[in-house]
Amino acid sequence: MPNEKKNIFSLTLQELEESLSKFHKFRAKQIYNWLYTKYEDNFDNMLNLPKELREYLKENFTTKLVDMVKFEESKDGSVKYLFRTKDNYTYESVFLKMKEDKYTLCLSSQIGCKVGCSFCLTAKGGFIRNLDSGEMVYQVFFIKKIQNIPSNKAVNIVYMGMGEPLDNLENTKKCIEILKDNNGLDISVRRQTISTSGLAPKIKKLGELNLGVQLAISLHAVDDELRTELMPINKAYNIESIINEIANFPIDNRKRVMFEYLMIDGLNDGLDSAKKLVALLNKIKAKVNLIYFNPHEGSKYKRPSKEKVESFREYLLKKGLLCTIRESKGLDISAACGQLREREKTL
Ligand code: SAH
Ligand code: SF4
Repeated sequence: MPNEKKNIFSLTLQELEESLSKFHKFRAKQIYNWLYTKYEDNFDNMLNLPKELREYLKENFTTKLVDMVKFEESKDGSVKYLFRTKDNYTYESVFLKMKEDKYTLCLSSQIGCKVGCSFCLTAKGGFIRNLDSGEMVYQVFFIKKIQNIPSNKAVNIVYMGMGEPLDNLENTKKCIEILKDNNGLDISVRRQTISTSGLAPKIKKLGELNLGVQLAISLHAVDDELRTELMPINKAYNIESIINEIANFPIDNRKRVMFEYLMIDGLNDGLDSAKKLVALLNKIKAKVNLIYFNPHEGSKYKRPSKEKVESFREYLLKKGLLCTIRESKGLDISAACGQLREREKTL
């Protein structure tokens, strides 16, 4: 059987050093530098490497295990990319242009998702498989390269694309480590946010790993009945169990845990819910991010009015709870994850 080439994007610097043990140790750093600060993915062009090493890299590694197959650009400059894996599955990433020339990259962690939330398009096709760390890291490499983002320009990473990152903790952890390496992409853990549907034991595990990443919890409802309807995982880990876990989670003194709250017309957008939310987050260093439900074909839920969302926010602020409304970026390219992939299937 021919020697299967390794995806070079899946290796931490230490792993790369180990797999190049017959060469000088500093060679791995040089390769990291080519890949992640010059965005060079052709080994032949890594000119300060000896020819013998370039040949070795070509024989043993590849940079081509993922292809970008489709993209859609929104009027505000945000772009959604669809990637295809070698085994022919697709996943999405979104490049978001925020205020004041800031960039956020929204990464996928799985193909599909097991959690099965009733409002989420990713859940529709069920779960297929985890992305490996290389398939995750490639999203950042590709977007920084194609968007011409200088290597020293800080970007924010949110693990809010397709999939549940805490259900793929091992690869997500490795991706975090590769992204943060200061010989490469150098994206500080303070700029990396993991969003989870609330897998309480995995939140505990993440806390124990003490990676220093930011945490966002997809709460979406203030009582268990509605939350179970929206997110069946709530049967296993209810609101109380999540809040208890968060209370023990190590958080940087200057930071807060973000609670994402998807606003759905007539379901959870009233001031009665706002009041319960304040009580629920009472003892936690929290901030709330309100998200407009982004409708998609076949969904029974509706987007709430602007007035409803703003008065919800004003109520929280009045009660001393920090609250922002997620900028609805890329709405015209239907940026809620899963939507580009869904359309691709029908083409
Ligand atoms: N599985 C993780 C991370 C990926 S989902 C989680 O659930 O947190 C990222 C965010 O997108 C979640 O807050 C999710 O609730 C939100 N989302 C999913 N479908 C949406 C839709 N149709 N409109 C708006 N937000 C949506
Ligand atoms: Fe999975 Fe998150 Fe979608 Fe729920 S919202 S199905 S956890 S990706």
